[in-house]
Order: sequence, then C-alpha cells, then structure tokens
Amino acid sequence: MATVDPERFRAWFDELAAIGRSDSGWQRLAWTPLEAEARRWFTEVAGSIGLDVRQDGAGTLWAVTSDADEAPWVCAGSHLDTQPDGGAFDGALGVVSALAAAEAILRSGAPRRRPLAVAAFVDEEGARFRTPTFASLAITGGLDVDATLEMMGDAPAIYGVTRSSLLESRAQLERIACFLEVHVEQGRRLAPLGAALGVADRLRPRQRWLAELHGQADHAGTTPMEDRHDALAAAARLVLAVEEEASARPGTVGTVGRLEIEPGSSNSIAGRVVATIDLRSPAAAAIDEVIAELRRRFANADLRRISQNAGVRFDDDLRARLFAAASACGATAVDCPSYAGHDAGILAPHRPAAMLFVRNPAGHSHTPLETASPEDCLLGAQTLATSLAGLVT
Ligand SMILES: [Zn+2]
Repeated sequence: MATVDPERFRAWFDELAAIGRSDSGWQRLAWTPLEAEARRWFTEVAGSIGLDVRQDGAGTLWAVTSDADEAPWVCAGSHLDTQPDGGAFDGALGVVSALAAAEAILRSGAPRRRPLAVAAFVDEEGARFRTPTFASLAITGGLDVDATLEMMGDAPAIYGVTRSSLLESRAQLERIACFLEVHVEQGRRLAPLGAALGVADRLRPRQRWLAELHGQADHAGTTPMEDRHDALAAAARLVLAVEEEASARPGTVGTVGRLEIEPGSSNSIAGRVVATIDLRSPAAAAIDEVIAELRRRFANADLRRISQNAGVRFDDDLRARLFAAASACGATAVDCPSYAGHDAGILAPHRPAAMLFVRNPAGHSHTPLETASPEDCLLGAQTLATSLAGLVT
C-alpha cells in the first residue's frame, strides 16, 4: 500500500508556497527567476526521494525513476508557474501531490513493472506571452515554434530552451505512457454536491479571438462629440455584447479580458482598440453562434480566431481508476467538467490522460483567494498515489 505521508505533503506544499509569495498573491510567472527558484526546489525534493530530474526540449522537468530508459513512463504532475497575483494551489497542488505520491510508492517497496515520472510543466498559464500550455503543445506538435519564439524573445533562454530544442522536444511524447494531473477545482461545483474530489469527464470546447476596432484618434478637448469615431466606445459596446450573447446560451461563458488601446493617452480619443475574446461552452455550435452575432453587430470590426480547442474526452480507464482509488480512500468523487485549459487536456488526444479536481469551496481561481482544505488536498494526493501504484506495480 502506497500511503502518502501527510506531514511531508504539507511541508512540501508550504515550501513551494513560500516561493514567489507577495502581499497581492503569488508571482511565479513563467520564464522568470521566481519560477526558476521553484524549479530548483522541485529538483532538490525529487532528488531527495531518489528521482533523477531531466529536462525536455521545451523546458519541462521530469523527475524519473532509475528504470526510465527501459519503458515509457507512467506520469503525474502539473505546473509551477502562476498567473500574476495568482493563487497557491493552481499547478502547485498537482506537482506536490505527484511528488508525495511518488515518494509513497517508492517507500512502499512494492516491485514496479514500469517507470514512474513526476512532471513540472513550464508556462502552463501563458500569462506573459499568451502562450498557455506552451510545453505540452510543444511536445505534441501543437506549437507554432517560429511565431511563438518571435513573441517570446529571449525569455526561454533562461532554461536553455531554443528553437532547435523545441523542435526536438516532440521526442518526449514517446516517453509518456499516460498522464494524471491533480488540480484545484476552478469553479464551485463540488462543494454543493458534498464531494471532496471531481474526476474530469472532458474539457469543454474553447476558442480565443481578437477583435480589432477602428476609430479616429483625435484631441479629447477640441473634437465635438458628434464628430468622434471613438474605438474605445465601440469596444465598450463589444464587451457588453460578449456578455449578452454568452449569457443567452446555457453553459456558455464569454470574457473580454484585455484591451490594447491606441494611442492610450488620457487626452486622446482612441483610434484603435484590440480586444481579446475568450469563449467556452458545452456546445461548440454555441461558440460559433456568438461569433456570428458579434460579426453581425460589429460589422466594421476585424475578428480573427487565434486558437481553438474542440474539447477532449479524458481516458475512461484512467477515470475509472481515479474513481476506484477515491472510494478506496473514503472520498466522495463525482464527474466534473472542466472549462479551463490544462496540460492534461493537451496530452489527452495523444496519450491516455485524466484529471482529478480537489474541492475549492469558494470557487475562486487565478487569485490568491483560491483554496482547498488540507484534508481534501491529502485525499487528492492519496487518490493519485493509489491510482499510480495500480499502474506501476
Ligand atoms: Zn493550472
């Protein structure tokens, strides 16, 4: 029996949470010295439990057992980076759970049939360069390497990631047998159901768009109201339209999270605004409808899609293992949809993958308010350990 050591689990979580903490939240942005510090912590902890840390061409760290070259790896993990003013649990909980699960399996002394690996993905959040799930996209061939590097400048050099290493990183996929990711719940579905854990059934379809609105930059004092072509006023109407159109379709969510305003001066009328639009829905057709309505209502706006994910179903065998392990640990687990992107979701079309969500009573995410109780987190880690033990022993 692989039993997670509660004290070690808690201590590791606290050690990682001490890195990049500020008064307004966690600041472990990808490709920065604070993420690098978290990676050094990861390497040290992994080494202390007998794992050997390797880095793939995209920058992800893989802590592997000594038989790593003999067969593809049973993998678990998550990411170490956070959003700006992010929370302590997103990403970190999955990495610490995987380390604690690996430690429990190694300590149990049960003979293993397959190598085990703990992954610390780099740049899952995409907060700096709009490159979410950077590393899992790279290894699955879903990254436009040249366009991405142009946006990122020399940031990836901090971990020695280069154009050629990124191209070579696709070899990493061959080493992965399957992948499990524990993650703090993002939303508030589990608490009302009285469930500590959720097993993701699928990732919802999602699209990201840019809307470019054109006006005429002019003087804020000398231009009469009737002569104005204010791109920011149009953008304000667009923000409200996204809210209306998404609200009109059940389960659909739409967000304008960022505006770039030119010239962006307090005494100038905006001549050009670029807005990001993020749309997610249980039904891909609903997203298409929202875009069609926006095109109709904003005929002069340039709308272009920058990414889309058709949604993905997680692996049924791994899901069943997570449910069985949760019940063996005495935890209530329920099916749980995910509206967010995750490295597990990027891997899922290529390798068996699954996700386990840990109840987040308030439902907040990407803020320091995100939380999960120590008891629920431990149940998540123990469920992961039991599932992984079944796969490797
Ligand atoms: Zn995350």
